[in-house]
Amino acid sequence: MDFTQIIGHEDIIKHFKSSIEMDRISHAYIICGEEDCGKKSLAKSFAKTLQCEKEGTEPCNECQSCHQAETGNHPDIIRVSHEKAAVITVDEIREQVVNSISVKPYKSKYKIYIIEDAQLMNQQAQNALLKTIEEPPEYGIIILLTTGMDKLLPTIVSRCIVLNTKPVKERDIMDYLTHNLGLSEEKAVFCMEYAQGNLGKAIKLATNDDYAMLVNSVIKLETNIYDMDMESIQEAITDAEHFKFNVSEYLDLMMMWYRDILMLKVTGKIDKIMFKDQYSIIKKQASYLSYNELEKKSQAIEKAKTRLNANAKFEDVMKLLIMSLKEI
Ligand SMILES: [Zn+2]
Repeated sequence: MDFTQIIGHEDIIKHFKSSIEMDRISHAYIICGEEDCGKKSLAKSFAKTLQCEKEGTEPCNECQSCHQAETGNHPDIIRVSHEKAAVITVDEIREQVVNSISVKPYKSKYKIYIIEDAQLMNQQAQNALLKTIEEPPEYGIIILLTTGMDKLLPTIVSRCIVLNTKPVKERDIMDYLTHNLGLSEEKAVFCMEYAQGNLGKAIKLATNDDYAMLVNSVIKLETNIYDMDMESIQEAITDAEHFKFNVSEYLDLMMMWYRDILMLKVTGKIDKIMFKDQYSIIKKQASYLSYNELEKKSQAIEKAKTRLNANAKFEDVMKLLIMSLKEI
């Protein structure tokens, strides 16, 4: 993996390359963007380039450092790990960053720390990290990857160079899906619309083993939702349970259904909707759902996501969600 293989994110790559050229590397970076959008690829490519023995603006992919970076075995590129899914603790930051950064790099110019999901650091963890970011050793570089800035302390943010990812161009996503993944035009358009500029998200849906089943399950639920009785709601939940491990995709697809209705209400055009083959049903639902109701339905899906992330029982969350989506 290097910059040449990254699709989109031209601005961030340009920033990294010019900072290498001008020898003005910062000690702390934040790369911010939604899940799967390419933050990790950017950080890994930057780290690999910085450590490359040839010291260019692209890694040479031949030296020992490049090989070690590629296989994830570079002694001076440290990926901070955390034990619990929902939090990065102060002990983890102390052990893996604060205490180890004072030890000089093993063999490279820099010692680079990549902290994924930095938004999961609790207050104490961030305070511990702050001291290091305030007074880093000459060779120390910390790269924070985050899905949102609101959970990070302003004192941390103000000491970092903040790089916000932008959506990847539709054309580039289509190119990748049709050429690299060999998708049909129709499937590629669907996945591209779904991903809204996030290539990783498009790839995840496109390469899902149960792609057709997943999409059909959401369509079945959304097209029948206003005629469902308790029995068919139970059936729909059982059906959705099959995608328990792809539940964010399931809910995102549901979200796109309401986005389609909104798009159709606003523009009146079929070309911007994702579920094109469900046009007549979407049009019908658009005629009786108000903007206010559409907003409420999106909120209900967001709420379900939050509850599932907090480990609420799948069946309960889905039941409540379907019940509130049914309401008009
Ligand atoms: Zn190299």
